[in-house]
Amino acid sequence: MVQFFLESDRVAEFVTHLMKRKPVYAPHRKGRKSYSFERTRDAAGVVLDYPRVMQSVKKFFLPPREQLLSFDLGDNTCRAGEVEPLDAIFLGVHSYDLAAVGRLDHNFSEGRAERNYLTRRQGALWVGVSYEPDEYHFAGSVGIDPYDTEGFDIFLTRLLDGYVLEVLTPAGESLLEGFDLPAHEAGKPAKKHFQQHIYVPQDRLNEVMSASYNNPVWEETALGCVGCGTCNLVCPTCYCFNVEENVDITVTKGSRDRHWDGCMLREFSEVAGGEVFRETLAARQRHRVMRKFKYISEKTGQPWCVGCGRCTAYCTAGISIVNIVNRCISDYEKSTVSAIR
Ligand code: SF4
Ligand code: SF4
Repeated sequence: MVQFFLESDRVAEFVTHLMKRKPVYAPHRKGRKSYSFERTRDAAGVVLDYPRVMQSVKKFFLPPREQLLSFDLGDNTCRAGEVEPLDAIFLGVHSYDLAAVGRLDHNFSEGRAERNYLTRRQGALWVGVSYEPDEYHFAGSVGIDPYDTEGFDIFLTRLLDGYVLEVLTPAGESLLEGFDLPAHEAGKPAKKHFQQHIYVPQDRLNEVMSASYNNPVWEETALGCVGCGTCNLVCPTCYCFNVEENVDITVTKGSRDRHWDGCMLREFSEVAGGEVFRETLAARQRHRVMRKFKYISEKTGQPWCVGCGRCTAYCTAGISIVNIVNRCISDYEKSTVSAIR
């Protein structure tokens, strides 16, 4: 692996170089405290030192709303929505967000492959950047380090005055062609420590979550939860959607549209006849957390949470997924100890 040094003063020049190769999507500042992944038009607007973006890069591959097909009885046609490969460079991606893309790739490829997501995913190149864990990140507890380079073509590790730039794939090497950088000989900085932790690894968590179905934590959490669904909508590994048929007032043409949905919303579990099979907030909260740490994990061996901390950081009611899981762990441990006695 080849390592170079990219001075902070040359970051905009580096971004401009990448923009000549392909469209670049990168974090930009939004307002005073927020950051958002956007198509880069001006290299000076790219921010590489940021805690998290509210919406991960998922939004480019699975847009919040999209047309799946349209029909017109007038000319008796039905057309699938236009979908193109994005064929772009995603710059400044944190390791947990690329891990989340890997989870979505699995979800959309397994069984009958989903055309729109997989088409848009084609041609993506990944330039990662390390980050400083804040009070919400807990990616270390799900095995994703801030310096984890897996899946990236180029990775930037932050130093005081610039970045160690590692070229990790032939595609990354080709992206750097024509951009001269000095070699970096010294090592990388010491590992960052997370402030938030889940106290057991996933292989034990399956057992803990299996024993937590009737834990009082679901009812207790529901007392504060307002059922707004923000935790689903900001999650980079949530992929549930609703499909609507929208018919023109003439009833001769219309479209089939898909939009994001989430299990914390009451209507999500409403079925024909008006029945809601997860009526209580406690049942919905349990389902959300079990989807991250049990239901999919039992099949794949991996947590379906990447520890980004978004659901806690943006929760309207200050509910922490780490606190919920740790409560399940501590109650489970107490119950196993008392069973031995
Ligand atoms: S964001 Fe918080 S308040 Fe809203 S549904 Fe999720 S847990 Fe409940
Ligand atoms: S469950 Fe929460 S912490 Fe885990 S990936 Fe989703 S938003 Fe991030």
